[in-house]
Amino acid sequence: MKQGLFIVVSAPSGAGKSSICRKMLAVCPSIKFSISFTSRPPRPKEINGKDYYFISREDFRKRIKRGEFIEWVENYGHFYGTPWKTMEKYFQKGKDLLLDVEPRGAKKIKRKFKGGVFVFVLPPSRKELLKRLKKRGHESEPIIQARLAQAERELKEISWYDYIIFNKDLEKAVDQLRSIYIAEKCKMSGLRGEVKKFIKK
Ligand code: 5GP
Repeated sequence: MKQGLFIVVSAPSGAGKSSICRKMLAVCPSIKFSISFTSRPPRPKEINGKDYYFISREDFRKRIKRGEFIEWVENYGHFYGTPWKTMEKYFQKGKDLLLDVEPRGAKKIKRKFKGGVFVFVLPPSRKELLKRLKKRGHESEPIIQARLAQAERELKEISWYDYIIFNKDLEKAVDQLRSIYIAEKCKMSGLRGEVKKFIKK
């Protein structure tokens, strides 16, 4: 069975990654979202089974013990993890996947699977990043500061990513991510089988 393609998107908090991913899924119905598990409580408008599977810390720990995650991290006091099941159900059956995962998890995925494309989304500037973090509203000052410190740590990981998107304009950023997807689907490495068949005929 031919494997699919998966795109891992990482970004510092406030770079606009969630909006880009949401729009990307709307314009590319052939790509499915890998829904992570988290012990963080849902934010307003977040839906269980769509944005995340929201579970308790105890449940998360049990799933870690059962080996249900490809990778998991503790971030801002909450657990986040990518389930094996999604990779098995989609990517390993030839379907394409979009994953929204921070750099530590992304690195683990890169080590475990071939066929991944790693994209890092950046805000237009550091000044803009701080502005966006503050605008989020539902976060307290210590959380904003923690997210900012985390953003600095995450920026150090940027060099091993395949693509960078500067999110100055949402439409343009989605266009860029879609273009990356389309170009990756046209790569010779993924189409060798089909090309061989074509030539034989
Ligand atoms: P948020 O709480 O804002 O939804 O997400 C916080 C961070 O967790 C984001 O950087 C997001 O990419 C990351 N994240 C979401 N799901 C996963 C996951 O399954 N694994 C890892 N390692 N990070 C995740």
